[in-house]
Amino acid sequence: MRKLVAGNWKMNGLTASLDELVALKSILSRAVPACDVLVCPPATLIAPAAQRVQGAFALGGQDCHAQAKGAHTGDVSAEMLKDAGASHVIVGHSERRQYHGETSAQVALKAQAAWRAGLTAVICIGESLEQRKVGDANTVCQSQLKESVPEGAAASNTVIAYEPVWAIGTGVTPTSADIAGMHGHLRACLAARLGEAARGILLLYGGSVNPGNAADILSLPDVDGALVGGASLKSDDFSRIIAAMKPQAGPG
Ligand code: PEP
Repeated sequence: MRKLVAGNWKMNGLTASLDELVALKSILSRAVPACDVLVCPPATLIAPAAQRVQGAFALGGQDCHAQAKGAHTGDVSAEMLKDAGASHVIVGHSERRQYHGETSAQVALKAQAAWRAGLTAVICIGESLEQRKVGDANTVCQSQLKESVPEGAAASNTVIAYEPVWAIGTGVTPTSADIAGMHGHLRACLAARLGEAARGILLLYGGSVNPGNAADILSLPDVDGALVGGASLKSDDFSRIIAAMKPQAGPG
């Protein structure tokens, strides 16, 4: 699988922000990236973004409802995101878990909804600062992984993003050893759970990735890319993070 750098615009972006995507398209056409690129703008911008970027990189939603349609005022289904031009959808972001009370069981249903619509689910997990401080990070992430990732997950339909809650939007990142340690742990958990199907499932790191720390983070073992919040809003910063991804060594 090619590695992936993904941007999460969160609740940021108006029509004028599409210019950033056009600028990103132009930068990537001049410096072809060593990884796949995904941008998840607000749902309102997916369709116009798809028109402007013309497949130069992938587009995704930031959440979806578990149902395909129905009486769910204000919600967006995975089918609607697909129809608008998305190929991916983030599910279980810590802001959804924290501010909307989403449980891992609900996240798993959303991941299945993504698959039903033909989208790749970017399933987020991560521990709080309190959980890390008391030494529970590994067990918390292991159980979030078990409960949020449905049977049937494979490299073709699922990406996992490890995002320690305390690193999101704070400018603070775990040590390289902590990131590599957690990714190795998650890789082993996925293999134990899914067997051969786990092979190739991308494990992204997310939390205060910026142009200054991207090269170090992206070179860590078992880190297959990044999920980037704030630094994905500006094409210049985001393209520098993408450029920090080194080409993968070929077979042999
Ligand atoms: C995120 O919200 O997924 C995220 C990683 O944010 P930031 O990069 O701003 O920490």
